[in-house]
Amino acid sequence: MITGKLINRVLYIDLTNKSFKVKDRQDLFDKYIGGTGVATQLLFEECPEGADPLGEDSPIILAVGPLTGVYPLASKTVAMFKSPLTGNLGESHVGGRSAVAIRMAGYGAIVVKGKSDFPVYLAIHGRKVQFKDATTIWGMHSSTTAGRIMRDNEPGDGVRSIMKIGRAGENLCSYAAVTTESFRHFGRLGLGAIFGSKFLKGIVVSGEDFLKVADVKGFKKLYEDLYKSAVDTSLMKKYHDLGTAVNIMSLDKMGALPTKNLTERKLEGVQNISGENLAEKFLARRVACAHCPVGCVHLAEIREPSEHEAYFNKTTLIGYDFELIYSLGSMIGINDPEAMLKLIDDVEKHCFDAMSAGVVLAWTTEMFQKGKINKTHTLDIEPKWGDYMAYKKILENIVEQPNVFYKALAKGVAYASEQFGGKEFAMAFGKNEMPGYHTGPATYLGFLLGARHSHLDNGGYSIDQKDLISDNPPAAEKVVDKIFEEEYIRQILSSISICFFARGVYSMELVSQALKTMGLEISEKELLDLGKKIHAEKYRFKFREGFSFENLHVPSRIYEAPDPTGKIKKEYIDAGLKYAKEQLAKA
Ligand code: SF4
Repeated sequence: MITGKLINRVLYIDLTNKSFKVKDRQDLFDKYIGGTGVATQLLFEECPEGADPLGEDSPIILAVGPLTGVYPLASKTVAMFKSPLTGNLGESHVGGRSAVAIRMAGYGAIVVKGKSDFPVYLAIHGRKVQFKDATTIWGMHSSTTAGRIMRDNEPGDGVRSIMKIGRAGENLCSYAAVTTESFRHFGRLGLGAIFGSKFLKGIVVSGEDFLKVADVKGFKKLYEDLYKSAVDTSLMKKYHDLGTAVNIMSLDKMGALPTKNLTERKLEGVQNISGENLAEKFLARRVACAHCPVGCVHLAEIREPSEHEAYFNKTTLIGYDFELIYSLGSMIGINDPEAMLKLIDDVEKHCFDAMSAGVVLAWTTEMFQKGKINKTHTLDIEPKWGDYMAYKKILENIVEQPNVFYKALAKGVAYASEQFGGKEFAMAFGKNEMPGYHTGPATYLGFLLGARHSHLDNGGYSIDQKDLISDNPPAAEKVVDKIFEEEYIRQILSSISICFFARGVYSMELVSQALKTMGLEISEKELLDLGKKIHAEKYRFKFREGFSFENLHVPSRIYEAPDPTGKIKKEYIDAGLKYAKEQLAKA
């Protein structure tokens, strides 16, 4: 049982009537702590069964946790919504300053519903909530420029968070993202399209609340320990040094880097786009989310001659990490680092989810190569592996959606392959485009079973690397148990807004201690039970919205492509799914 009043205020905003109210929801925070736990319940309350994800009734829910703004690395805001990409549970996490800003504004969660009749952005400064006309920034080519205009018009310099969409969201692309502070994203599952459907260009949040801890002495000691393990041990070092981009070379070496739509598992010239090469030749600086001492956000700098002025170079900063390098590099056969960085920048300006965009480009290329689509579909573009210019144009067409083919591409590869064929190599799981791991069956079971079909739900790829590269690999059922156990733990981390990169720092024992210093009594065992309960609740929502194991499509490409554990067998995946279904029925 959690006791103690900490965060309890939920801000409810109605875009249709341009009104808002604040409610005390101690009941929810008492039961579910915050973050994903509370957001899941708000989703049940606010999202009518069968709602159109892009309809007026469909909610946007943002939630933070009791450690936000207090302990290091409690830097994530959870967004919960009904996904326009998968048609069921939509959840995405973002850092930047968003979580701390929401907490300092005095809220544990924000719910946005309705639809404005003209483009607006929300300005939430503490208890003051304003609906600001965004007509002049709607349709702007670059979401970064739109963000700068909001920044220039709003107070709170240095502590505010600015969330915004680009044209992908305005035009309702099912995998449009929301960007915060330029380089952090609510990337997955199409939150940007929901903003767009509501004529909501962005949300600016700031506040100056005072946060109290219950046990000051205990807090100081624990803070110091957590801080030290984040900065003085090897636990987080790789995230700071090369960032997740360090994984490119190791995955390529083991033949697990999805390349050219997984027709290959290694990329020729991969070292050019490796974390090492990018750090050596392009890294300009690292930045961190608010209240994070690690700073894993790597920014590359590229210089190009200005189109407007002779003898003048334009400098652009571009954030990169493993998933971006995979999806806009190896997956589409790009090994030229400048071309890849420019494509990442295009994706950023339009505000797409990078992983989905890369997989869509990869599928389109293979469809074109196989003659299943032609220049009539692509409007004269001839996509080929590694061709930056072709990919840039395709992305622009996905934003504009000038014909039926591009309209389908804007709904993701699962939808596009239903319309045009190529399902066997449409690399999406639960309709969510795949992340960059072809490490073995556990990664795919992880994508298929994850509540939001994300590698971040359970890290199946590490189970492959730890347990399945063996002469005596465990049965599928054992792997599913591990996947679920990990997912229960991650429910707790995201309920207290901890960055998943810090999962080695925040054991359940330390989480319990940290909550105690805040006045919340919850044991390690109770935390794990709650993680399991939140996971079951998410599946309850998924089933309510029509998710079924029978309809889960597994692209047969994964069975054709050898991986470090051998070759994935269909029977193994089927056994895992059958067992998972039985376990969830008991939950
Ligand atoms: S480790 Fe990286 S993503 Fe996580 S909170 Fe720190 S800067 Fe943000």
